[in-house]
Parts: sequence; C-alpha cells; structure tokens
Amino acid sequence: MPALLIFAPMANEANNPASPAGRFQELISHCKEYGYIFQSSEIYDGLAAVYDYGQNGAQLKKNIRDEWWKSMTQMHDNIVGIDAAIFMHPTTWKASGHVDNFSDPMIDNKDSNKRYRVDHLIEGFADEQLAIGNEQLAKEILASMDALLAKDDYTGLKNLIDENKIKCAISKTCNWTDVRQFNLMFSTEFGAVASDNPDENKVYLRPETAQGIFVNFLNVQKTGRMKIPFGIAQTGKAFRNEIVARQFIFRMREFEQMEMQFFVRPGTQMEWYNYWKDERKKWHESMGVPAEKLRFHDHVKLAHYADAALDIEFEFPFGWKELEGIHSRTDFDLKQHQEFSKKKIQYFDNDLKEDGKPYGNYTPFVVETSVGLDRLFLTIISLAYAEEKWLKEDGSEDSRVVLKIPAKIAPTKLAILPLLKKDGLPEIAKELMNECKSAFHCFYEEKDAIGKRYRRMDAIGTPFCVTIDHQTKEDNTVTIRYRDTMVQERISLSEVKNRVLEKIS
Ligand code: ATP
Repeated sequence: MPALLIFAPMANEANNPASPAGRFQELISHCKEYGYIFQSSEIYDGLAAVYDYGQNGAQLKKNIRDEWWKSMTQMHDNIVGIDAAIFMHPTTWKASGHVDNFSDPMIDNKDSNKRYRVDHLIEGFADEQLAIGNEQLAKEILASMDALLAKDDYTGLKNLIDENKIKCAISKTCNWTDVRQFNLMFSTEFGAVASDNPDENKVYLRPETAQGIFVNFLNVQKTGRMKIPFGIAQTGKAFRNEIVARQFIFRMREFEQMEMQFFVRPGTQMEWYNYWKDERKKWHESMGVPAEKLRFHDHVKLAHYADAALDIEFEFPFGWKELEGIHSRTDFDLKQHQEFSKKKIQYFDNDLKEDGKPYGNYTPFVVETSVGLDRLFLTIISLAYAEEKWLKEDGSEDSRVVLKIPAKIAPTKLAILPLLKKDGLPEIAKELMNECKSAFHCFYEEKDAIGKRYRRMDAIGTPFCVTIDHQTKEDNTVTIRYRDTMVQERISLSEVKNRVLEKIS
C-alpha cells in the first residue's frame, strides 16, 4: 500500500491555478490515449465536430445510456421506451416547424470568411468583459442580446455587435455581414429514383428524436393501453449542421439524445414541468454530479412550440453550459401532426368523464426532458479526471492520473492481474475471470510490473484490481485494490465476485 503522506488532488478542483483550457486539453488527450474518444476518420485528418467512441468510451456511453433508460422506463411504471427510425417522412419536419424555424441567426466576418452564431459571438465578448472585470457591461450586453433574440430583431443584434466593436477572433476586424438565418438540418436523397425535382426525394436526418415519439403517440398509447399522464422515452442519434461546432464532444454535428415526452392533461403542464425539473436535477446528482455544479437557467426566448423552458446547466471545464433541456411543449406537436396527416390524434380521458369535467377527448400537452448523451459523458469524464501527487515514505514524490468514474458506470469493473506469468497464477486468474465475467465487465492482464498495471487501470478508470500471487496458492486469498483510495486489502478468492457486485450495485 502506498504511503499517502500528502494526498493532493489537483486537476479537478475549481480553485486549481492551472488554466482551465490547459486542463481541458489534457482531458481530451487522455480520452484519446486510453481508448475513450477518437476524432472521426482521423487517418484522413478527421471530420470537424464528429467523434468516434473507442473501446472504453463506447462501454461508458452504453452504461450511462442504460442508467438513463432504467431510471425512465423501469423505475416509472407509466413510462415506456421506443426506438424510432432516424429517417422520417419529410412532412414530419414541415409539421414540426423545423423546415421553417430550425435555424440560428448567423453572421459572417467579411475579412476572414468565418461564420459565427450571433449568440455565441456576443456571449464570447461578454465572457471577455467579465474576465477583465467589466461585469456591468457583460450583464447589460447579455440582457440586450436576450431581448433582441426574443423579438427576432436581427438589425438590433447587428447594431449591438457594431456598437460594442465586437471583433472576429481570426481577422481581428469588425467587418461584418448582416445577421441571417441558417437552417441546421442535414438532408439527403431517399431511394434510387432520379427526379427533375430535387426536393421530391429529399429526406432529413432527424435533428431531434422527439418527433419519432410524437408520430407514434397513438400507436404506443393504444397498444400499451397507456393512461394519461404517461411518458414515452427514447435514445438515439440526432444530426445538426452546427455552424460553430467546437469544445470537443459538447457540440457535435452527429450526437445522441436521450429524450422523454410526458403526456399530460391540458392545464396541468406547469405542475409536471416543475416535477420533471426537480426529478432530472436529482437524477444527475445520483450519477455523481455535485449539486453545486448544476444550476437552472430559464429561457427568455421561447421556441415556437413552448410555453415554458429551462436548461439544466453544468459547470463544464469551459464554463456553465446547457446539459439538459426541460420544455413544456404544449399541444403544439400533436396538433401539427394531426393537421398535416389529417389523422385524429387525441386521447379519450375516461377519468375526466368520471370526474364530471366538461370534456373527455383532448390533445394532450407535453412536458419534455431532453439530455445529450455526449454532453453527459463529457460531464462525467471531466468530473472523474484527476491528477494526484503524494509523498512516499522515503520522501520522494509519486503521482498518477486517474478517472474516478462512479463504479456503477465504469467501463471495466474489475482487473484481474496474476503477479507472474507462471507458477499456475494465470490459471487461477482465468478461473476467477470465468466466474465473474457474466456478472460484470472484467479485464485480464499479465504483462508489466504490478505497479505499472495499477497505474494503467487508474487511467482507464477501473474501480477494482485483484492481484493473484503465490500466497493465493497457499491460502486462497488475493489482494483487492481500490482505485479511489489506492487502499489494498487481503480477501478470500471466493469473496471477490460478491465484493465487486456489492460495490457496483
Ligand atoms: P444548444 O443551445 O447548446 O445548441 P439546444 O438548446 O439547441 O442546445 P436542445 O434542442 O434542447 O438543445 O437539445 C436537447 C439536448 O441535446 C441539449 O440539452 C444537449 O444536451 C443536446 N445537444 C443539442 N445539440 C447538441 C450538439 N450539437 N452536440 C451535442 N449535444 C447536443
């Protein structure tokens, strides 16, 4: 057991003097070095804002997704899950408003030809003002921006940029175009039929998973005999042609959402909105996110479908940003699909009739919870990443990089390490591996000195290591080492499986 005379977690503490940008770069490099996240098609120099998850990343992502799925569908008896296709009938996106409204105000710098999302450009300027102590100016600019965005006042936004002499980060000039709208949906051709009208075969890659739920509302409600209030949950890929896609997996062009649409009686939506707002924050805390790193941000400008909306923000390494959206979407989507499909999409509320209320048939209202799986992954991995230093008994310094991922979602739960590659130790280790691998993910390694193997498991985030040595042959005991404390303990070989199960449950 290492002598922990000084135990100094460094990199994940808010008051660490090391620059946040530097630490974030270290995290990105770590994700690549340890098989978590790679740039997509890296051998061809990558594709901007598209990422691949490696062997450890894919497992961590799956474990987070499974936790969400379980918390929604298994833990709520009135929520069921579906898996709708990415391609949908093109009219879906006309009905939902995405063809006409799913756009962001953009501005181009004429000297660098760089395009910016207007809100990002202004927020970036406000951050710079904050950094140099101009708190009042930063606040005023953000308030003006919110008010102008709420009115879709593009001339006003352009004036705000001009008046404050906001510069392009590349050309350093204020030579801007007017503010314009750009649609964020990707489109492609469907089927092999050539047509003179290119729009005829046009389909979109879904920009959100929610519409797959709305168009299946009646299918699920009828086949599942669901009674309001009830929810439909779904996880899956979404695609947005983000103009300014940066900050690693925070903003990608292909990403994954975990959404739940909760269908409620008209008039009760605010009650449910407040319920899900609190539930979702609590859930993030149950995933190991400290309460003080989460906060609510109410929307000033509401989307065309919403009567209330807020973000659950997390303090990412680059500042407070949206992790999850909670939206009260009214009956907008179901009504639009009813109008465009000419199919009646309503719910007959037997209970309302019994209550003697004036109506039984209505279009339900919807409260939505929508979290980005990749953003949650980034949340968890940035909290987990730590560089630690300590003094050993002989006075020399030791250090490690560790991913303190909560054990229940860590990609590998147990590393099984025979001390030597001989003397029957690998055989005992493999027997233990066979006993444990159907219960949780294990990793077997016999190369390198044991200390080196422990460090590698720390870097990958494996919460438990078991070492099989010569004493194991004598008394059937092994050393179990705990990642977070580095404490080592001698336990019986037959106890290992249950010990790990107990800690990850
Ligand atoms: P933002 O303001 O950051 O662009 P948004 O308000 O457009 O996000 P929503 O449409 O509410 O996002 O989507 C729900 C969730 O999907 C977001 O809270 C976020 O976690 C995730 N998400 C949205 N866009 C992206 C993206 N480009 N890359 C990764 N995750 C995303």
